[in-house]
Parts: sequence; C-alpha cells; structure tokens
Amino acid sequence: MEIAIIGFGAAAIGFIEKIKDSDHKIHIYEKSKDVYSSSISGIRADGKLFVSKKMGGNIDVDINLQKQLVDFYINQTEDGKYEKGSSFADEQYYKIFYEQGFLPILSDFYHLGTDQLKKILYNIYEDFQSRKNIHFHFNSKIENIEPIAGKVILNNDETYDKVIVSVGRSGHKLVKSIIKKFPKLILDNTKVDIGVRFELPNHIVEDLNDKMYEFKIKYKSKTGYMVRTFCNNPSGFVVTENYGDFATVNGHSKLKDKSKNTNFAILTTVKFTEPFDDPIGYGSHIAHLTNILAGENKVILQTYYNFKNSKRTKHLYRVEPTLDDNKYILGDINLAFPRRIAESIVDFIENLDKIVPGIANEDNLLYAPEIKFYSNILNNEEFENLTFIGDCSGATRSIIYATAHGWITAEDILKQ
Ligand SMILES: Cc1cc2nc3c(=O)[nH]c(=O)nc-3n(C[C@H](O)[C@H](O)[C@H](O)COP(=O)(O)OP(=O)(O)OC[C@H]3O[C@@H](n4cnc5c(N)ncnc54)[C@H](O)[C@@H]3O)c2cc1C
Repeated sequence: MEIAIIGFGAAAIGFIEKIKDSDHKIHIYEKSKDVYSSSISGIRADGKLFVSKKMGGNIDVDINLQKQLVDFYINQTEDGKYEKGSSFADEQYYKIFYEQGFLPILSDFYHLGTDQLKKILYNIYEDFQSRKNIHFHFNSKIENIEPIAGKVILNNDETYDKVIVSVGRSGHKLVKSIIKKFPKLILDNTKVDIGVRFELPNHIVEDLNDKMYEFKIKYKSKTGYMVRTFCNNPSGFVVTENYGDFATVNGHSKLKDKSKNTNFAILTTVKFTEPFDDPIGYGSHIAHLTNILAGENKVILQTYYNFKNSKRTKHLYRVEPTLDDNKYILGDINLAFPRRIAESIVDFIENLDKIVPGIANEDNLLYAPEIKFYSNILNNEEFENLTFIGDCSGATRSIIYATAHGWITAEDILKQ
C-alpha cells in the first residue's frame, strides 16, 4: 500500500517504527522546514515520558507496550542518561493525600530533559530516512484532504491508498477543515483546562520532589470543578508559549541547568453542556483577555496573597521568578479569570497547604494564563482509509500515548 502520514511527531514515530520493516511505501509530509523544527509541541517539549493507566489519553494502552516505547526513546539518547521517578508509589504518601480529599494519580515517569530531545529526534529520523520504503517531505504543509472511493487525495494533487493524520494540536486548522466537511467525525467536544503556573522555592516541596519528582493529584474543589496538577518541574524554569493569537505559560526543566524554584500547573477543568460547543473559543478568549491586560504577548504574574485577595501585585518578596522579566507584568489575574475558576484554585492551594506547609505562602508566584485545550474526539470508524492518530484525534495527550496510538494503528494495518 502507498501510505501518507501527515505530520512527523510522536504518533507518526510510533506508526513508522512499527511498520518500517514491511513492504508498504510510506510518505511523510511535515510542514516544518527540517527535522530540527518539526514536532515543536512534541518530542521537543520537556521530554517526560509517563507510564500509567490513569493519564496520557483515553485509549487503552498495555503497560508493557508503554514501557517498551519508553525504552525505545531512551535507546536513542547519546549516553542513556535520564531521571526516573514514581508518582505515589509510596503508600504512606498516597494515604496522606487521599485522607485530605485528593485523588493521587499513580504513574512512573522517565525524564529525558529538553536538552537531549533534539538528538533523540534526529537519531530516530536518521534510521527512518535510511530505508528505501520511507520518504520524507519537509516544508510540505497539507491543507486539504479529500477521501474519495477507496483513495485519499492530498492538496488536490497526490493520491494515496491510506492517509494517517498525525498533526498534533498545532495541526488544528487542517483537522477543523476536515470536520467542517464531515461533521459526523466528532464524537465529543466539551471541555478545556484553565489555570495558572505556580512557582515556589524548591525547599518547600523538597520532600515531594525527592520522593516523586512529578506529583500528580486531582481534587474536587468546593465549586464542584475538578482541579489537577500538571507537569511538575523541580529546579525548573517558567516559559511562555506563543499560539499566534495569544500567549500562555508553561514550565520545563533541564538535565544540567537548574534553578532554585519548582513550578507546576494548577488547572481547573471547565466542562460545558449543550448548546455551547466551543471550549477552545472560551479558553482562547480568556487567554487573549489576560494578554490584553499584560501587554502584547505577555502574561500576568501575581503573588498568592494578592491573587487570593483580588489585589494587584506591585512588588515581589522572597521568590524570584524564573520567567524573563520582559515576558510578564505584575498584575491581577482576577481581572481575566471567572470567579469560579479563581475560587477553585485558591481552595486547591489552601487544602494542599495542610499537607505541604508553605504551599500557601503569601509570596509564592502565580503566572496566568496556563490553558490546556482538548482536541475533539474523532471517530476513526467514519472512513476506512483516513485515520486520525495522536493528539489531533482527541484520543491522546502525551508522548507515550501518542506514540502507542501510532504503533497500535500500524499493528492493525499489518494484521489486515
Ligand atoms: C510545551 C509542551 C510540553 C509538553 N511536554 C510533554 C512531556 O514532557 N511529556 C509528555 O508526555 N507530553 C508532553 N506534551 C504533550 C506531547 O507533546 C503531545 O501529547 C505529543 O507530542 C502528541 O504527539 P502527536 O504526534 O499527536 O503531535 P505532535 O508531536 O505535536 O506532532 C505533530 C506534527 O505535525 C506537524 N503538522 C501540523 N500540522 C501540519 C500540516 N497541516 N501539514 C504537515 N505537518 C503538520 C507539526 O509540525 C508536528 O511536527 C507537551 C506538549 C507541549 C505543547
């Protein structure tokens, strides 16, 4: 079969790795100019690989396959170096959090670090492109996909027996254009996560960082909203992320360069019911409003005391921000966030402070907006020769789940 893959990210890697030794001819179309610029939102990111049944996506991925894929990525590093940890493997910790109303999420993770990711991606690419049946087309943005009678046409030009769409979140425009033509593809589309990046001195969370590195918890706040932690970065750095229309915050950590602070996201899941059907629009507007208040492409930084008391922050005290000072202004996040979201975050922090004293220190820092969009969940049964994998399908939210989704899809093709 002649198979086209749109996008060279985590899901495409899983797909190609599984199918590379078969007779199928594979063409990969990637909009970035070369392998160094591709998958910006994927393998390039913090490079924390999670093994868990409880997070990463809503498909069932066998733990052994998850671990096998972690090893695949680790084997591509120069010297096999990584940091490892387990979230809530310590039963005592699990009980303490549980008793305080938190839902601890069990997972193992392997942190490769932002600094190693370039080489890993390059090594994978080198192996793939050395094969006769695999052809890369960089600088090739696909803008139109037309499924017709047993074939699929790309950009009104190339025709394939099968097309695998693996464009991640950054490919939302392409996915949107397909959904517009075939609205039946959408199975579900109801939520968005809105919150802040929280930053505090390492010593307050030293014990958590040492024991778990990444602590993942959920909490049903007094507002009824679920609040969760995401992406903990011991000795890490806060960064901004530019989406074109707006800027948000994120965090990462490196294997070598370390800061004195830990940062993690505190996110509130906002779920909508009919007739409202635009959670991405809702999140984008809040992000945009925050940027308007902060100045173009900047985010708002506020101390916890001021956030809790709806006062503008004018001065910081002991905690030094790791985000460049030209990327934020001191301000009041409450001017942009709905009250229910702000109250949920405060409730979460106050409750966590009972287990980890110092979390609710007045001078700890909050950066906004941190927003995580959920892709529409798409129905892969709709077309026989057009399949969506990875984050753009709505089925995954992590490197390992996206890679596994690609792997499983290739496995199904090989079985046919
Ligand atoms: C800042 C950040 C940090 C993250 N950190 C982690 C982490 O530490 N651990 C973790 O497990 N997950 C992390 N994630 C999530 C993870 O990156 C994704 O879940 C995963 O990469 C999804 O894989 P994918 O293949 O679906 O998409 P991607 O990896 O995003 O790949 C999609 C590819 O498609 C290309 N593309 C898009 N549109 C087109 C088009 N029209 N034509 C051609 N090519 C196109 C893109 O350029 C890109 O290369 C992070 C995400 C972000 C944004």
